[in-house]
Amino acid sequence: MMSVIDELKSIVGEDYVLTSEVDLVAYSYDATFTSARPTLVVLPGSTEEVAEVLKVANRERIPVVPRGMGTGLAAGSIPFGGGIAMPLTRMTELLEIDRENMMATAQAGIITSDLARTLAREGYFYPPDPSSAEYSTLGGNVACNAGGAHCLKYGITGHYVAALEVVLADGRVMRLGGKATKNVTGYDLLHLMIGSEGTLGVITEVTVRFIRQPEAERTAEAVFPKLADAGRAINAVLASGANPAMLEIMDETAIKSVEDYLHLGLPLDAEAILIIQTDGSVEEAERGIEIVAEVCRQNGAREVRVAATPEESAEMWHARHSISGSLGRIRPNKLGEDVTVPHNAIPAMIARIKEISARYGLPIVIFGHAGDGNLHPNILFDKRDPEEFERVEQAVGDLFRAAVELGGSLSGEHGVGVLKRPYLEMALGSVAVEVQKSIKQALDPHGILNPGKIFV
Ligand SMILES: Cc1cc2nc3c(=O)[nH]c(=O)nc-3n(C[C@H](O)[C@H](O)[C@H](O)COP(=O)(O)OP(=O)(O)OC[C@H]3O[C@@H](n4cnc5c(N)ncnc54)[C@H](O)[C@@H]3O)c2cc1C
Repeated sequence: MMSVIDELKSIVGEDYVLTSEVDLVAYSYDATFTSARPTLVVLPGSTEEVAEVLKVANRERIPVVPRGMGTGLAAGSIPFGGGIAMPLTRMTELLEIDRENMMATAQAGIITSDLARTLAREGYFYPPDPSSAEYSTLGGNVACNAGGAHCLKYGITGHYVAALEVVLADGRVMRLGGKATKNVTGYDLLHLMIGSEGTLGVITEVTVRFIRQPEAERTAEAVFPKLADAGRAINAVLASGANPAMLEIMDETAIKSVEDYLHLGLPLDAEAILIIQTDGSVEEAERGIEIVAEVCRQNGAREVRVAATPEESAEMWHARHSISGSLGRIRPNKLGEDVTVPHNAIPAMIARIKEISARYGLPIVIFGHAGDGNLHPNILFDKRDPEEFERVEQAVGDLFRAAVELGGSLSGEHGVGVLKRPYLEMALGSVAVEVQKSIKQALDPHGILNPGKIFV
């Protein structure tokens, strides 16, 4: 390995090959409860350096785990088999804002909200907004096809990607897509790479579309004494013509957890809160929020509060965005899933989650992007208790089975990574899994790119 390390240093520079114990530990985690140390960390500064590193790794059959900011929730960037951890975090340049075509091109390591904020300063809007946008990378978002609250109305990361630069396992550089709106020339390799979780290529450059910022936004918070009523209200709002931009749910454990942490005055006797935002012209946003308020009241909301100021709106969203962090106060570990179901199956999915929670005696918090059927049931537990962890694993299996039986999927946005691998065939069927494996084999015959991810 010594001469290989020297070779890698000659590619990226001495300072960007890390081998100290401290550095290896730092790159052994993501946002899950798992970890594994890489053999070394290599931080490339350009596409050419990524390509040269991959040529060496492919020749030596060394695993390479591409990495953004390590905020993933599927253990996708953890190097379980050792090898090279390759963060793209030196490659953060915003290369172009093309105002005529309404597209921006950036290196893959740019932080998503840095891009979004730069565009917002000119009145533009990049809608994909994972809750981690302040600390995840655009490349990581593309690799996971990340979603977020705005995806209900505006679509997910993949809908905004116009072009990619990707380095293949053997170091060849491939450019996909472009600025033309329509393009059906050959297989759609652009969308094959989106959501491929670092297993088919390393994304080095991304061109995304952006749109004009909506003129106005209105936010409402609806308090439901009964969780099941909140489930029904979601469907009624979506069918109402209000056209919400965001529709998020917090169940009673999430409400209590955030209240205990932030003391915002949230209603501790409610089983659910829906936070809903409309946008568009001033009239559209206003009319939309009036419809939302009326529909929520008709479906069992005890109280609907419409934010009168941007600060009030921000406070409502602050509660939603603080759920994840606050849960650590209840139990030391959490397993955050992101099953999806058709939105008319949300009440049934909520009922199934409650049953699973009772069956295994585990607290399961429900929150998430309810409007697009993407719930985040978070199982709270203590990893130090092996018996409890065993129950967590069984509960996860039941959660996935429930989602698939209700016509949904294992993951709406976090990806398969390692944690959902055992359930892939149940969700997709054996033929689809075989086809996916042959694609992997064709693009990465030596299996060096993020081995052990997606497939068992
Ligand atoms: C508090 C919190 C909230 C979150 N909220 C959301 C949410 O609302 N929506 C959502 O979708 N996700 C959410 N996530 C999950 C996570 O932030 C996203 O999956 C994000 O897209 C990961 O980006 P990253 O840069 O951290 O990638 P990493 O975690 O470093 O990597 C994730 C995966 O992408 C691969 N990868 C990373 N960069 C590249 C690249 N340049 N080329 C090829 N492969 C690459 C890795 O190998 C790995 O498989 C949340 C996470 C946290 C901790």
